[in-house]
Amino acid sequence: MTTGDGDASPRWRGGGSWAAAFADLVVPLECAGCGRPRQRWCPDCASTLSAVPLTVRTRADLRIPVWALSRHTGPAALAVSAYKDRGRTDLARPLGAALAAAVDRLRADGEIAEADERPTVLVPAPASARARRRRGFDHVRQVVDVLAAELAGAVPTGPVVVAPVLEVRGRVRDAAGLGAQARADNLSGRIRRRPAGTPLRATPGAPVTVPALLATPSTVLLVDDVVTTGATAAQCVAVLEAGGLRVTGVLAVTAA
Ligand SMILES: [Zn+2]
Repeated sequence: MTTGDGDASPRWRGGGSWAAAFADLVVPLECAGCGRPRQRWCPDCASTLSAVPLTVRTRADLRIPVWALSRHTGPAALAVSAYKDRGRTDLARPLGAALAAAVDRLRADGEIAEADERPTVLVPAPASARARRRRGFDHVRQVVDVLAAELAGAVPTGPVVVAPVLEVRGRVRDAAGLGAQARADNLSGRIRRRPAGTPLRATPGAPVTVPALLATPSTVLLVDDVVTTGATAAQCVAVLEAGGLRVTGVLAVTAA
């Protein structure tokens, strides 16, 4: 697995940028999982994100596999929280790389198609505009961009598409501090497809428009940071499938 090199790569077409997000960081040199000094994410904590994804049973019936790299506990949970709510945006890179290792493993295990068999389509779970404003960035999108770059740089490689085709409609209370059930209710019925013409990021050979995407058999992964009840993921999947995109599975960093 190679390290993605962001927008410097000529492989990518389409809009969006993640490189800028990393440019001006002042990152504390302390492990986000254990507080060990002089490293951002130490090997011991990194090893808690399993390369063999867990198959998660959620309360919501998703009828497709849900995979996670770790239970939402210990260093993994601390890292997700530090990443999304405490300014450790540098963690997008190790979290995205860990997800890429999991995708590799799912391919090797035959759970999903090999890279060169069909395009891999990554749909970031959407955040509300309010949550994005509070954080100052779209936390799932940035991890997905790293994941995509890692997959595009892997050998053997295949077409990779980042398809941010979902959004959260209207005013939603910020989910921070809400319990799992409240969080599910919070987004209830508010996830919808983004308007047609949403820009996709795609490597050469991959579909670059939504109609082309719908016409191409693909491995479609909904990617989220944390899966709790599965209610939000189920809503996302339902909206994608209503729009004609068949979802292969849900991939999250942690499962609560
Ligand atoms: Zn650590």
